[in-house]
Amino acid sequence: MKKKQIVVLGGGIAGIEFLVRITKRIDHSKYELCLVDKNEFHTWKPMLHTFAAGSASLQEQGMSFLIQAKRHNFTFQPGEVSEINTEKKEIILAPYIDQHDDEILPQRSVKYDYLVMALGSKANDFNTKGVDEFAYTIDDVGYALEFYEDLKKYIMQSTILHTKHHVVIVGAGATGVELAGEIAQTLQQASQYTDHDFDKHIDLTIIQSGDRVLPGFKRKISKSVQQTMDNIGVNTLLSTRVVEVTKDHVVLDSGKTLPADQVVWTTGIKATDVTGDIAKTERSKNAQFITNEQFRLLNHEDIFVIGDCSSRQNAPLAPTAQVARQQAIYLSANFMNLINKVPHIPPFVYKDYGSLVSVGRYGSFGSFGANAHIKGVLAHLAHVFLYRSHQINILGAFKGICAICADFLRSFSR
Ligand SMILES: Cc1cc2nc3c(=O)[nH]c(=O)nc-3n(C[C@H](O)[C@H](O)[C@H](O)COP(=O)(O)OP(=O)(O)OC[C@H]3O[C@@H](n4cnc5c(N)ncnc54)[C@H](O)[C@@H]3O)c2cc1C
Repeated sequence: MKKKQIVVLGGGIAGIEFLVRITKRIDHSKYELCLVDKNEFHTWKPMLHTFAAGSASLQEQGMSFLIQAKRHNFTFQPGEVSEINTEKKEIILAPYIDQHDDEILPQRSVKYDYLVMALGSKANDFNTKGVDEFAYTIDDVGYALEFYEDLKKYIMQSTILHTKHHVVIVGAGATGVELAGEIAQTLQQASQYTDHDFDKHIDLTIIQSGDRVLPGFKRKISKSVQQTMDNIGVNTLLSTRVVEVTKDHVVLDSGKTLPADQVVWTTGIKATDVTGDIAKTERSKNAQFITNEQFRLLNHEDIFVIGDCSSRQNAPLAPTAQVARQQAIYLSANFMNLINKVPHIPPFVYKDYGSLVSVGRYGSFGSFGANAHIKGVLAHLAHVFLYRSHQINILGAFKGICAICADFLRSFSR
């Protein structure tokens, strides 16, 4: 009998968590698992600001999909999903092009019986003029590394030529403030260990349309993070909107301009674009696919959507790592019952374990429940716990603990 194909699109937090769990629950003589991802490595997206600031690297933190495929008994198809045709149950992958613009693989198609979409999201530029052309984003490992490569060049130029390099981060949500903190920390460390005052040649500004940093967090945390930003010399502009980005400045809603050699756009999210007949299905205002309470795409029995690119009908959740992971755990536990249409499957219930933010090594802050707040080492440990447990889940206990020890020794020996 021909095996049924379960195809997972996107091996980010939701996709890989789903795969490493479902592989233990299915009968491999009846089902085949396949992962499609445009990147060759899994990365923990909440770490991308550390890649952008140069304090972590893909070589250290990336997990090869090919190796995970062998370990967890699935196949891996590298490629960018360009089209999903639900009538033909077929996915079209764009040609696979390497960094030298050479075509490594031609356009291909992948057939599925069941599809799990976990394609994530990207920053939402709200159609702001110039963002596409001149701003960086850090929502993909390639973009984060591109920003860092350029940042290094500019820092070298401004330090040697005694000029100022202006970095503007648009959006003071968790991504924006964590990036600002990480860049400030990298510059401070680089200045400490060399004869150059790198930090004196960089002007770091963060712009937020609302009246406080971290608008999604409790006020007390916003206040502590604002204080940290002030202490480390990050300029914050609140109640200010960027209406245009150009090659060397940003235009503010007041009409004023601000010098900006590198602009990083971190505001909001928008689900990853896909074309094909799936594009006609119902979407949220952020282009997320609307699902029922068990993550089944509306009107599509054989398609499930989890993570940032999904939105539950009438009960949307914030696009966070915590949500993506819990959705993957739920879907993997109930997947066989869902595809076999077993009645009375319990709905997904989200458990909110609080919000955490780390501003480099300058401070970590978190809130739980109605009024509990933590900061310092405890908040830092809680922040890294989610990543480390994810890492152990994918690599297994022994290799996961080895990877954690290796990270610790690396940071100690720098
Ligand atoms: C810099 C940054 C910091 C963040 N910090 C936090 C935090 O502190 N706490 C928190 O809870 N959340 C944080 N988030 C949000 C969190 O990372 C996301 O909510 C989470 O990663 C969503 O998981 P996902 O699996 O839906 O998407 P992702 O983890 O983004 O995975 C999507 C996968 O799909 C692949 N993909 C995308 N498009 C295609 C395509 N067309 N074809 C093939 N493959 C494709 C990608 O390569 C990726 O592997 C942060 C996000 C960013 C960008």
